[in-house]
Amino acid sequence: MSRLVIVSNRLPVSISKGEEGINITHSTGGVATGISSICKPGESVWIGWPGLAEEELDKSDKDYIGRQLRSSNLAPVYLTESQVDEFYYGFCNKTVWPLFHYFPLYTTYEEKGWEAYEQVNRHYCEEVLKVIEPGDKIWVHDYQLMLLPQMLRERVPDAQIGFFLHIPFPTFELMRLLPWRKEILEGILGADLVGFHEYDYMRHFLSSAYRICGHDHSLSDIYIGNRVIRVDAYPMGIDYDKFANAREKPEVRAEIEKLSDHVNEGRKLVISVDRLDYTKGILNRLEAFDYFLTKYPQYRGRVSMVVVAVPSREQVKRYADLRKKVDRLIGRINGAYGNINWTPISYMYRSLPFDQLVALYNAADVALITPLRDGMNLVAKEYVATKNREDSRGVLILSEMAGASGELAEAIPVNPHNKMEVVEAIKKGIEMSKEEQWRRNKSMQARLSRYTVGRWAHDFIEGMENVKKTQDDLA
Ligand code: UDP
Repeated sequence: MSRLVIVSNRLPVSISKGEEGINITHSTGGVATGISSICKPGESVWIGWPGLAEEELDKSDKDYIGRQLRSSNLAPVYLTESQVDEFYYGFCNKTVWPLFHYFPLYTTYEEKGWEAYEQVNRHYCEEVLKVIEPGDKIWVHDYQLMLLPQMLRERVPDAQIGFFLHIPFPTFELMRLLPWRKEILEGILGADLVGFHEYDYMRHFLSSAYRICGHDHSLSDIYIGNRVIRVDAYPMGIDYDKFANAREKPEVRAEIEKLSDHVNEGRKLVISVDRLDYTKGILNRLEAFDYFLTKYPQYRGRVSMVVVAVPSREQVKRYADLRKKVDRLIGRINGAYGNINWTPISYMYRSLPFDQLVALYNAADVALITPLRDGMNLVAKEYVATKNREDSRGVLILSEMAGASGELAEAIPVNPHNKMEVVEAIKKGIEMSKEEQWRRNKSMQARLSRYTVGRWAHDFIEGMENVKKTQDDLA
C-alpha cells in the first residue's frame, strides 16, 4: 500500500513536561486538516520535531511519547537544545526567513548556523529512512528542510518526493546574496515536484535554478540528467466550512455576545491579527491608524482597533525588540487620543483560541492586514470566510505583498509602505456600504470555498502522480 509520508520541522502537536509527566496536545493547523481530508487513517505518517529539546526528556519520556504519537501516525524527530538554537533560531530564522521575506539587512550569514542546518537536515533524512517503505510518497515541507529532498534522493534514487515552500521564494537578486545559494537550490531540486503558493515565487525559483545552478527549464519542467523536476503553484486554502459555519457554534455565539458589549455603542471595529513578526508590518499599520485619527478627527471615539499579536520567536533579539516598539507605539497612540470613554487600541499579546478568534473576525467591520511580505496569509482568508449575509459587514484591506492578494482581488489593496494609501483605505473601508461589502465578500467566498486546504493537498499529490507518469514515459 502506498502511504503519504509528511515531513515538516514541527509535528502538529505540542508537548510539555510538568509534575504529572508528559502532556501531549494535538493541534489541527491548516496543513494537518488538509492532509487528513485526503488520507484514510493509517495511510499517512507525519515525521517532525515534537517541540521539546531532547535534553528535557529521559528514556521513559521518549518511550511514552513514541507510543502515544505512533497511535496517531506521528513519528518524532528529536533535536538537542543547541540544534534548536543554531538550526531553528539561527539559520532558519536569522538567515532564511529574513532573506526570503526581502529583509536582506536583517539577514546574518554564519557558518555555524549553516553547519547546524546541514546537520539537522541530515538527521531528518536518517529518521525518514527508518520510516519509509517502497512505494511511499514523501512530502517535505518548508524552509527548514530545503536540503532534505536531495539528501533523500541520494539514498533512495527512485523515491517519489514532493517539496512545498510555505514562505515566499525571493527574486534572484536576493537569492544570489546567500553564501549557500547553490546548495539550497540543489537541495530542493532533489524533489520531483516543487510547489509554491504563487506563480511569482515559482518564476523566481526557476530563474535562480538557471542563473545559479545552470539548470534550464522548459515551461516549468527542469531536466537534470534523466530526471524531470516539475515546478508549480499551489495556493494553500483554508478549511472553509469550519470558518463559514463557526457562528453556528454556541461557544462562538457567546464570544460574539461578549464582544458586542465592548465594541458596539455604534463604534466601528478594525482588527489586526498576526504573529508578532517584522514581516507582518505591524508598526507601519499602527502608524497609519495613528495618522488616520489625526487626519480624520471626526472618527475619534467612533472607531476602535483590536490588535492581536501572537508571541513568536521571542528568543531572537529582533523579535523581542519589535515587541517593545509595538508596546510603546500603542501606548503613545492611546495616550494621545484616548479618554475615559474610549481607548483607540486594545492590545492582546497572546494567541487566541479558535472560538475567540472567529468571534473577533465576526465582530470586525474592517480587517487591516498589511504585511510587508507574506508567503500567503491565512488570516485574510479566514476573515472573509466567517462573514455572512445575515449582517453583511466586513471589509478586508489587504497588502499587495501578501500571497493571498492574488486570490482576494475584491479586497481593498494597499502598498503597506504607503501610509497615506493605508489611511485612505481605512476610511473607505469604514464608509463602504453594506451592499458593496457583501458583494465583494460573496465573490471572494466563492473562490475560497472551492480552493480549500483539502483541495490544495489533493492537487499537490495529484501533481506528484503526474510527474511520476512523465518520468515513467521518459524512462
Ligand atoms: N491564529 C490563531 N490565533 C490567533 C491568531 C492567529 O490560531 O490569535 C491562527 C490563524 O487562524 C491562522 C494562523 O494562526 O490560521 C496564522 O497563519 P498565517 O498564514 O496568517 O500567518 P503565519 O503565522 O503562518 O505567518
